Amino acid sequence: MDNEGKLTIKDLMNFSYCERLIYFENVLRIPQATTIKELKGRELHNVFTQKSKRTKIVREFERLPKLYALALESKELNFRTVLDCLILDKAKNEAFPIEYKDAKKPERLYRTFMIQILAESLLVKENMSYSVPFAFIKFEQTDDLVKIPITDYDLEKVRQTIAEINKIVQTEAIPEPTPYVKRCKDCGYRKICRRA
Ligand code: SF4
Repeated sequence: MDNEGKLTIKDLMNFSYCERLIYFENVLRIPQATTIKELKGRELHNVFTQKSKRTKIVREFERLPKLYALALESKELNFRTVLDCLILDKAKNEAFPIEYKDAKKPERLYRTFMIQILAESLLVKENMSYSVPFAFIKFEQTDDLVKIPITDYDLEKVRQTIAEINKIVQTEAIPEPTPYVKRCKDCGYRKICRRA
């Protein structure tokens, strides 16, 4: 949650890793100890934010208007995010979110990439009344642009997940631990979680 109590992509990532993270971070308000993995991730992000993303995005979709660093929020879902870029095709009433990753294209798209792009697509569809048939992830280091079909089923799943996270915060009920015990090793709450 951000400092105004809105859920963000980070909460979706946490929930996907282990539902119990939501309880520790958003109900008990215990800041997550930073793991080595996260520190490395932050270093990468810091380097990337210093670079210009725009010129590279413009190259891919020359003729369509674009919105950069677009902040979107759903009051109903208590959720907000900022998109790297949104391409608009006004003639077709379609829009396509693009996420930038300072990484090589992996063999398979990580679950976290998908969560982010689906949440962005949901907010675009609901706030801006465009249909979102596709989204894209641009992998900077290999110059790959991956096209991702977006289905109503996917969007509904993300909507339900956000609703579940809100429910944990509202009911203050501690969720079950992740069934994947290996994940506890990298978890910042492992010392206070009764699972560990
Ligand atoms: S220690 Fe394991 S079960 Fe507990 S919050 Fe962390 S990942 Fe979840």
